[in-house]
Amino acid sequence: MAAMRWWGWGEEGVSFTHEDKPALGPFLQRVLDLDVNRVMSRPASFDAVRVPEPSASPELTAGLQDAVGDGYVSTDPLDRVVHARGKSLRDLVRHRRGDLGRLPDVVVRPADEEQVAAVMRVALDADAVLIPFGGGTSISGSLEAPAQERRAIISLDMSRLRRVLAVDAPSGLARVQAGALGPDLERQLNAQGWTLGHFPDSFTHSTLGGWIATRSSGMQSDRYGDIADVTRAVRVVTPAGMLVTRPVPHASTGPSVREMVLGSEGRLGVITEATVHVRRVPERRVILGYLFPTWSDGLAAMQDIAASEAAASVTRVSDAYETAFSFATRKDPSLLDRFKSRALTTYLRRRRGFDVDAMCLSFIGYEGSQNQVAVQRKAVGRIVGRHGGLSIGASPGELYDQKKFDTPYIRDFLLDRGALADVSETSAPWSRLSTLYDTVMAAAHGAFDELGTRGYVMCHLSHSYHAGACLYFTFGFKPSAQDEDLAQYDVVKSAIQQAFIDAGGTLSHHHAVGTEHARWLEEDISAPGVAMLQALFGGVDPGANLNPGKIA
Ligand SMILES: Cc1cc2nc3c(=O)[nH]c(=O)nc-3n(C[C@H](O)[C@H](O)[C@H](O)COP(=O)(O)OP(=O)(O)OC[C@H]3O[C@@H](n4cnc5c(N)ncnc54)[C@H](O)[C@@H]3O)c2cc1C
Repeated sequence: MAAMRWWGWGEEGVSFTHEDKPALGPFLQRVLDLDVNRVMSRPASFDAVRVPEPSASPELTAGLQDAVGDGYVSTDPLDRVVHARGKSLRDLVRHRRGDLGRLPDVVVRPADEEQVAAVMRVALDADAVLIPFGGGTSISGSLEAPAQERRAIISLDMSRLRRVLAVDAPSGLARVQAGALGPDLERQLNAQGWTLGHFPDSFTHSTLGGWIATRSSGMQSDRYGDIADVTRAVRVVTPAGMLVTRPVPHASTGPSVREMVLGSEGRLGVITEATVHVRRVPERRVILGYLFPTWSDGLAAMQDIAASEAAASVTRVSDAYETAFSFATRKDPSLLDRFKSRALTTYLRRRRGFDVDAMCLSFIGYEGSQNQVAVQRKAVGRIVGRHGGLSIGASPGELYDQKKFDTPYIRDFLLDRGALADVSETSAPWSRLSTLYDTVMAAAHGAFDELGTRGYVMCHLSHSYHAGACLYFTFGFKPSAQDEDLAQYDVVKSAIQQAFIDAGGTLSHHHAVGTEHARWLEEDISAPGVAMLQALFGGVDPGANLNPGKIA
């Protein structure tokens, strides 16, 4: 997989377009006052961007060359720019205008664990900063060096450590190198009949090590578990040597060191390898679409499904605003599709008493043998029916499944047209979800009003658990003053994040802390919790050489 565009998401030549989605233009005009035919800004040309000279000393460069070989130490301007940040909205906006921040001075690409350890030694001896780089998809500012950092900065790119090393079939465990990208990893596992089952929306460009270092969650985590659940053991190069934990199913060895590594964002060392749960590729996999009369019906159904024996692999329900957006992004429908959709709307209105402006689209996934899938579908069907919902078949689910990895391109499409769009996600107990939702919606609309702009906010429940669920909000607006775009973004983003905390949610369910969410950490985990993390980072990395400034 080639490196992503330096200024935006994904690969050259692939982009989001409104041209095959006839309802999208009118929708965006209505909700954001946005003319999709009017491109207002494009990313700066790379040739016009001023890339500061690197400042690694000749001794440091020579040490790194000894560690990984000459060909794997790069000071190429584009390489340094690509490794400077992740893909948060703030990253995209600044990169597009050529505001590059504090770039790494050098990018190194070790081949194996020994070389990672050698790079660590060189970095510490030179008192340089070392920032592990997986796929570069961080959405929380977890990769950017502090603006005032005076020491040399090394970006350690994990892309050469990408192999599945071994599968322990009786235990359902695989040893995998941490730099494996999602598609790489699944291809190697699938070839042996296994799957990890971890499919974040960033799957195509993110790595196992990055997932572990940010406590990632994937679309099918309801069935397979979040990355924290499936990571059984880790190998980490730390300043004090190799940290190795055992791939046992459970241990009573004091506070879990494995858990400390999960979500550590490069602050404790470089994860080189993990042992993860793998499962047999299921015989059958299906995602069905459902409609619920209202958001509260949809939420109640997801809660009942989570409490049932149905074991769905995906439980997702959108609020009415996201449902309207999903319908607006439908590709040009055929005559038959249009007829079916009119017939469905009439049926819903007249026979089921739905208010079509309030109805909520849901996707529920099933995996397993033919028989297991049939049993799960039946159990879920009964619950859906109890909450007034109905199935609309497999085609909406298939479409959603196909287009989910294209969706990340939409932020670049909107930025071209002068609008900002981003996401914030949280989790909370079932008892608080409805209030949390109302609090966040009110906070976002309050922020739009304060800015005097028309904005849109929508939400879906993306993962269900025994005790609660993840709510995932997407918001967009056209800044009322383009030169204040990031300041205005801060107003909306902060209002939403603060609402999470005020309503009893967490600052992030799976996007990590980084720098973007760090200011809410103390309210989330309490002052002694923050002090504990600071003591951990300070104890492991007394010189603050490892990705300083992130989390706490
Ligand atoms: C459009 C979009 C969609 C997204 N969808 C999802 C989603 O569905 N689910 C989800 O969980 N996240 C999602 N994310 C967030 C992001 O993809 C995750 O945080 C992901 O886990 C980062 O992986 P990465 O390999 O890109 O890591 P990077 O972005 O390269 O790094 C992230 C952090 O991990 C550290 N790190 C990386 N590799 C290592 C290593 N080997 N050892 C130690 N530290 C390391 C880095 O130093 C950094 O602090 C999305 C992001 C975007 C932009």
